[in-house]
Amino acid sequence: MLSPSLEDYLEEIYRFSLTNDVVRVSDIAACLNVSLPSVTNALRKLSREKYLTYKKYREVVLTAEGKKLGRFLVERNRILRDFLRVLGSDCNIAAEAEAMEHYLTRPTIQSVEHLVNFMYENPECYEKFCDYTKEKKK
Ligand code: MN
Repeated sequence: MLSPSLEDYLEEIYRFSLTNDVVRVSDIAACLNVSLPSVTNALRKLSREKYLTYKKYREVVLTAEGKKLGRFLVERNRILRDFLRVLGSDCNIAAEAEAMEHYLTRPTIQSVEHLVNFMYENPECYEKFCDYTKEKKK
């Protein structure tokens, strides 16, 4: 099990790799707004767990395992942001999804995904829910 911080590193490395051929330490530092030593420290731990390979001053390369987990982490974050949007929560959606993601189990994430997809696939139910919450908030 990765710590929340390492999960965020892997998530960001994977997200970055989707639109960039090469991932460098400096890219990740810029994305997460952290120092280079913090990034190298995280990379050392992630490479020990076999999620990526990384050599000093060289590019970061995700392993098959790293890509698989990275894809899940990016998807998990997207599901939770959609969930908060569906709820109509009056919160900072990015920040709250960012915090929630580390504390929900996979079965719960999957259930949340089902709920979100159900609402998308059944707009009449979603509208009813929106009307209901609007009424409650009055
Ligand atoms: Mn996070």
